[in-house]
Amino acid sequence: METTHPKPHAVMFPLHLQGHVIPAVHLAVKLASKGFTITFVNTQAIHRQIIKSRSQHHDDDQDIFAGARKSGLDIRYKTVTDGFPLSFNRSLNREQFIEGFLHVFPAHVDELVGNIIAADPSVSCLIADTFHSWPSSLAQKYNLVHISFWTEPALVFNLYYHLDLLVKNGHFASHDNREDTIDYIPGVEAIEPKDLMSYLRETEVSTLMHKIIYKAFEDVKKADFILCNTVEELELHAISAVRGKQPIYAIGPVLSNIGQNGSIVATSLRSQSDCSQWLDTKPHGSVLYVSFGSMSPVNEHDMEELAQGLLLSKVCFVWVLRPDTMSDAESYALPVGFEDDIKDRGLIVPWCNQIEVISHPAIGGFLTHCGWNSVLESIWCGVPMLCFPILTDQPTNRKLVVDDWRAGLNLCDKKPLTRFEVREKISSLMSGKSAEVLREEMKKVKEIIHNAVDKDGSSEKRICEFICQVKTKID
Ligand code: UDP
Repeated sequence: METTHPKPHAVMFPLHLQGHVIPAVHLAVKLASKGFTITFVNTQAIHRQIIKSRSQHHDDDQDIFAGARKSGLDIRYKTVTDGFPLSFNRSLNREQFIEGFLHVFPAHVDELVGNIIAADPSVSCLIADTFHSWPSSLAQKYNLVHISFWTEPALVFNLYYHLDLLVKNGHFASHDNREDTIDYIPGVEAIEPKDLMSYLRETEVSTLMHKIIYKAFEDVKKADFILCNTVEELELHAISAVRGKQPIYAIGPVLSNIGQNGSIVATSLRSQSDCSQWLDTKPHGSVLYVSFGSMSPVNEHDMEELAQGLLLSKVCFVWVLRPDTMSDAESYALPVGFEDDIKDRGLIVPWCNQIEVISHPAIGGFLTHCGWNSVLESIWCGVPMLCFPILTDQPTNRKLVVDDWRAGLNLCDKKPLTRFEVREKISSLMSGKSAEVLREEMKKVKEIIHNAVDKDGSSEKRICEFICQVKTKID
């Protein structure tokens, strides 16, 4: 007999960073297409950045969910202050901003959630990015099902989840951290300390970022459900280890082209079509796509060597230079004269719809900082990666791509970086036997993640199980 569960209504809070907002938007669309009502909440600062980018590109539609709503999905949109005026420069005053994020922002969220529920008592769930530290107490206060959304790999989740073991075994937060292999984390067969997330490699371990991590991973242990933007077949052990303790569901890849919605940051249609037209003139698999994400600073030395190495490699490329549309971070600059030197071999774009560009048949490789969204998108499109990790989870993501899945090469083995290494690695990625092997391996991983979102795929099954469990919990 069919049960008549109420329609779940979730209020959703992404983290205020591009790499977190993007998958959260796609998750919102996915859940709404499976019957959820979603009230999606961005900070006013993020909202302003999105609007700014849309109007710069003459896109009048300032509502990121307009398309989804037109196709009948029940997604509402709200904004909340992060506690600072819009004119406050959050990048230049990072410390103050993070203090506010930890101590002031939760009160604004609390007030907003109270108002939303007062206006519409159907709200039953709270979906919040795992990096928030307040969801469990808020969920308890308003009697909501607490769903934590993790936008990075399960491996990274697992390492943060077991910080106590890393401390106990002297691999983190000791005066002289051990440098031997870590082989005692449940679900992680072995990992070298160099592959840990950058925060776990620091000697000062009581910074504000560390406080966020400690609080967030205390809080997530009280969540009713955890959703992870990964694929079970790719991270089976890491997922199983957490599942032994809490309900976790691998529901990835949550990507734009699988949902109904395009890029949330508008791209100038003209520059996007210029980019496609330019790619149309290039042979299949011959162009390298270069992007280091929205937040990761590339230092001056590395920029120079990367640019000169690209020139030496003679490979054609598309380089996204300012993907910081959702933050007020300073962008990095190309060496003087570089744009004149590249002639028709390279296209430098301020922003593009990444997944659309890398799915063009002319793209044969991705020089990436290994942001998790970029990794998933690259695999989705079957494009092997040249890995240049910079911060946070990127070194750990690199391990998955290169060591575990063999779908990429390292560009981080030798320090300092030289243009000759850049040239050599680009040529191994793009041509010859090594490129062939990488493409073959990448094909296998691509198939796994495509299968996962098929009707009978693991991610599709997990999301259905999750929805079923949520409905039971609401009841
Ligand atoms: N992105 C994009 N256009 C660009 C550069 C980036 O659409 O020109 C998107 C990209 O597709 C990905 C996100 O921005 O979804 C970047 O996330 P990722 O986790 O790779 O890196 P982060 O910016 O968080 O470091």
